[in-house]
Amino acid sequence: MQAYFFTEEHELFRQSLRDFLEKEVKPNIDQWEKDRETPRHIYKRFGEMGFLGIPYPEKYGGLDLDAMFSVVYTEEMTRMNSGGFFTSIGAHSGLALAHINGEGNDAQKEKYLTAGIKGELIGCLAITEPGGGSDVATLRTTAVRDGDHFIINGSKTFISNGVLSDYIIAAVRTGGKGAKGMSMVIIDRDTPGVSATKLEKLGWHASDTGEIAFDDVRIPVENLLGQENQGFFYIMQHFASERLGMALMGVSQARLAIDLALKYTAERKTFGRSINKFQVLRHRIAQLSSEVMMNRVFVYTLYQRFDKGDYIIKEAAMAKLVGTQLSDKVCYECMRMFGGYGYMESYPMARLLRDSQLGTIGGGTSEILCEIISKMMIDAKAYKAVV
Ligand SMILES: Cc1cc2nc3c(=O)[nH]c(=O)nc-3n(C[C@H](O)[C@H](O)[C@H](O)COP(=O)(O)OP(=O)(O)OC[C@H]3O[C@@H](n4cnc5c(N)ncnc54)[C@H](O)[C@@H]3O)c2cc1C
Repeated sequence: MQAYFFTEEHELFRQSLRDFLEKEVKPNIDQWEKDRETPRHIYKRFGEMGFLGIPYPEKYGGLDLDAMFSVVYTEEMTRMNSGGFFTSIGAHSGLALAHINGEGNDAQKEKYLTAGIKGELIGCLAITEPGGGSDVATLRTTAVRDGDHFIINGSKTFISNGVLSDYIIAAVRTGGKGAKGMSMVIIDRDTPGVSATKLEKLGWHASDTGEIAFDDVRIPVENLLGQENQGFFYIMQHFASERLGMALMGVSQARLAIDLALKYTAERKTFGRSINKFQVLRHRIAQLSSEVMMNRVFVYTLYQRFDKGDYIIKEAAMAKLVGTQLSDKVCYECMRMFGGYGYMESYPMARLLRDSQLGTIGGGTSEILCEIISKMMIDAKAYKAVV
């Protein structure tokens, strides 16, 4: 199975990433979880190793590698068992840089993509607002044209890297109501009128999640990303890869939970024998592993189609819907196999279970994904790529 999807190059890359993570990340994860953020210096190290530029063009310092390298990256990052750490790096390299690479002009790419791939400038993507995240088209943050500037007012919430990042890729209203009046802009953190506060949350502890306020923030019109009033369509376009990434993260978390449970159930003894000899637990592991394997193969094939340029809106929504729910189920069932130790912070399952819970919320809730899938299947709605 491994050889069917991955080449020798992919596996060499996996090994070097794994070695790096074991040495420079794993020993520090517990501290970063306590600190409620991932420190800036680790972005620099990721940049030096090339890990922030896997899919991006060589012209800007990227590696321009195929999508299965991104699969390897996500799988290895998930093994660190810190959704917060994963997200800190991912909100920068997978979300902010994806918008810069996709819609940015040459000057914007020179400035933000090149420095971003090196880990010198950290970005975040700010779409969600206190008034609502699912209904993206109703966003209220305004960008009003004033000569060769936009003046921005409004607020964003639940933003990963919302406090620590150097710049914000923000969705703003530049036109009338609805989807057709939205644009994406780049706002440098040190622009007067930008402020942010950190939020406390259930999981993803090593990630800084922030609320950001814009109070008469003046940015030059050159900071418009892509075309004016096309923001909604750019967001929808990027959702496909974000959702695919979250589906893979879910499936990878589930795999980690099963690996940990396999080890623990082999070591733990009750009634004179290892608990992996009890049929009820054996069958549970067999059942969960089968479901995980089937989802894994589905997600891998979607990455291959994505790489070929297929527009996989429906399939990515399906993969995230099922993959994140499966992660919640598997993490919960495996946590229970640890008995009381599963509930303890000193064991890995507690963090894995609470970090998994975000999967069905971020990047489109399960209900919103069902809306998209049902509209495409029942109402024959077509979502087309922005060209
Ligand atoms: C830790 C964390 C990190 C995040 N990082 C980012 C980030 O970096 N950038 C960013 O922009 N956002 C981020 N988000 C925000 C996330 O994308 C939103 O929370 C999510 O999209 C849901 O929006 P909401 O919280 O406003 O919920 P709401 O939209 O208010 O939804 C509330 C409930 O109603 C349901 N619902 C809403 N509409 C419908 C409908 N039509 N049919 C059926 N049910 C419906 C939802 O499924 C949900 O159960 C993050 C969130 C968290 C918790």
